[in-house]
Amino acid sequence: MTLEIGSKNRVLAALKGRGVQIVVIGVLAVTWWRGEEWLTDLTRADEGTVAAQKLVSAEAARAALGLATVEVMVGAGDTLERIFRKLELSLTDLAQLRSLPDLRAKLDRLKPGEMLRFGVKDDELVTLERQLSPSETLSVQRDDSGFATEVIVNPLERELRSTEGTIRSSLFQAAADAGLSDNTALRIANIFQWDIDFVLDIQPGDRFRVTYEKISQDGEPLGEGDILAVEFVNQGKPYRAIRFQPNGEEPTYFTPDGKSLRKAFLRAPLEFTRVSSRFNLYRRHPVLNRIRAHRGVDYAAPIGTPVRAAGSGRVRFVGNKGGYGKVVELEHINQVRTVYGHLSRFARGLSTGDRISQGEIIGYVGMTGLATGPHLHYEYLSRGVHMDPQKVALPTDMPVPPPQMARFREVAAPLLASLATGDVSALVAAQAPADKPDPATVATPGAL
Ligand SMILES: [Zn+2]
Repeated sequence: MTLEIGSKNRVLAALKGRGVQIVVIGVLAVTWWRGEEWLTDLTRADEGTVAAQKLVSAEAARAALGLATVEVMVGAGDTLERIFRKLELSLTDLAQLRSLPDLRAKLDRLKPGEMLRFGVKDDELVTLERQLSPSETLSVQRDDSGFATEVIVNPLERELRSTEGTIRSSLFQAAADAGLSDNTALRIANIFQWDIDFVLDIQPGDRFRVTYEKISQDGEPLGEGDILAVEFVNQGKPYRAIRFQPNGEEPTYFTPDGKSLRKAFLRAPLEFTRVSSRFNLYRRHPVLNRIRAHRGVDYAAPIGTPVRAAGSGRVRFVGNKGGYGKVVELEHINQVRTVYGHLSRFARGLSTGDRISQGEIIGYVGMTGLATGPHLHYEYLSRGVHMDPQKVALPTDMPVPPPQMARFREVAAPLLASLATGDVSALVAAQAPADKPDPATVATPGAL
């Protein structure tokens, strides 16, 4: 049941004898925090700093004490003070909470859609709980001297899985058929974004196998964690990626022989949607109706789709130019130039000479100039010569540092085996003993 707040008495009357209620305050911009967005941030760092304890269910104890539990969903622009005022709770209590060491940081910056749980007895705040991360809950309790706080750790359980999918209509559909979330599908596309053009190159029959962490808590599945290894076969050509953390660096993905998957240019400069026209020097121009070389790639996409810089560089031109309409030209290293045409508008403040990073938004898809429908016209020039952006060889980022190649091979061997066979048992054996999953719970090949 959902209640509009307004009269606290009405709320509390409704609470009597009912246990937990949800009180909605302000505008709802709701994302339940256990949803996919949060799982993106799941890392091992979420756990471990505080000694693990069992989360004790306090429901029974609360009921016995005559406590009313009020769950408040945070609305856009809500602050703790605003919520305290609406619940008619003591602002002196709030000030006292905020004065406790470390507590202020743990209570500030509420996220719209998250839940706060208040325990109220005789119009007085007795307990307050906030989930800090998927595995940590802040618990505040009133005691004789004021308030006591603790962080309760409810560790996440990680299981290794390996599963595969085949594309019939889209990457998302194939992922869903394999029991994977859209989020994991997007991560696969991100891992290979320098090699595979997920807008234009994907075709039915393409397939993938992914070895990843399945995350649950108290036996309840929360979603997928990190992708440890993934193979994508695009038009018969296999691409493989291994997750590895070089000493002192962030974990990233490498090819089986230790080359970086990152390259100086993105294969596609926008989010993937659907195919339109490929690079073709002898195409009949749809507006001019005569053969005219098409020296780029067209990406059909809704007007307003963000267009990203394919590589780092400087803005060479921004403005109107004949058939290109609103166009941005970027200048990169090694005399490479990229061109983005038919834009509806430019990124705010973009001007000639600006320094741009790879992936930065430079404009938005439109249909200015000679265009029959909304699309991005993208060109890649090397030393002034037009190249096919889908096929041109792109320079790569730093490989695994040579002194760490032996360790990389050790990590990669069982991961590559899991991609070949779907068997994760060698991986389970190689995992750190501290959080070794029960082998009985690990999926056998094809179990998903
Ligand atoms: Zn075009």
